Amino acid sequence: LRLFPHSQLRRDVDRLRPTVSGVSLAEAPGFLKAPGGAPANVAIAVARLGGKAAFVGKLGDDEFGHMLAGILKENGVIADGINFDKGARTALAFVTLRADGAPGRIRSVSDSSNSVAWFVFDFGVDRGGFKGARVFHYGSISLIVEPCRSAHLKAIEAAKEAGALLSYDPNLRLPLWPSPEEAREQILSIWDKAEVIKVSDVELEFLTGSDKIDDADALSLWHPNLKLLLVTLGEKGCRYYTKNFHGSVEAFHVNTVDTTGAGDSFVGALLLKIVDDQSILEDEPRLREVLKFANACGAITTTKKGAIPAFLPRTKPSA
Ligand code: ADP
Repeated sequence: LRLFPHSQLRRDVDRLRPTVSGVSLAEAPGFLKAPGGAPANVAIAVARLGGKAAFVGKLGDDEFGHMLAGILKENGVIADGINFDKGARTALAFVTLRADGAPGRIRSVSDSSNSVAWFVFDFGVDRGGFKGARVFHYGSISLIVEPCRSAHLKAIEAAKEAGALLSYDPNLRLPLWPSPEEAREQILSIWDKAEVIKVSDVELEFLTGSDKIDDADALSLWHPNLKLLLVTLGEKGCRYYTKNFHGSVEAFHVNTVDTTGAGDSFVGALLLKIVDDQSILEDEPRLREVLKFANACGAITTTKKGAIPAFLPRTKPSA
């Protein structure tokens, strides 16, 4: 936003919207129109691996909102909790890729009238609310503006009351925030509610203010409710921290073309494996096996363009 003030961003978007949904960009070499957004990505990652996932939130009553809802349903995600808002426009993100497949620049487009508050909660979801949810996974982007922020905080509390395991991925996306200070403050304000947290190394650097992160930096963010802190390191795999042990698990070597969605695929795989048996979080060899699986899911996602289009194909849902 420092480079693109909101007003200019909105003008750009108004200019780009018809182009994106229309012909010219779609025909540009390398352009791929793909559904995404971290919560939808995680829900679909879980569903594709055979888990039961639901998506709750508000989408614009526009082409993009209906496209996303359609893709969620096609993938077996429970979508009863989606509200289409006539006055809102579904958020878009324009991702440019670097030669090594890492997202170069992500320009996101949403505004306060969009008020998208979206969450994923997994497994045994009751239509009326969070009753029966065993995992509630959330991110920070909804904290940026009201009324998303309040809705998001209420959802966290409701999920907690329902007894769900709270899983948090800050998904920083710094340019969307009014200032880095506000981003840090808001992210840390919900930090100590989560029992599982996944951050990338870049996010960890941002949150700790350290330019060369080590175990001490990661552990400086430890809090008593936390059961597992994960730091994803791209092609270097991940590091894990629990109350009793910590270590790292190497990544798989693959032919990477686009890393978008690797973290979401990783989280979906992890949540699916721990939801049935949280004792894994206290058993290092079993946790390492789970993280190897999550690393594999993350790696596979990098071998194709887009996030959802690159996830593993759907397997038979578990009973
Ligand atoms: P985030 O989206 O949170 O930044 P990462 O890009 O670190 O997450 O990716 C999550 C996980 O996906 C990593 O921990 C790793 O296991 C796997 N992964 C990501 N990029 C690569 C890559 N280039 N090669 C192999 N595995 C990767």
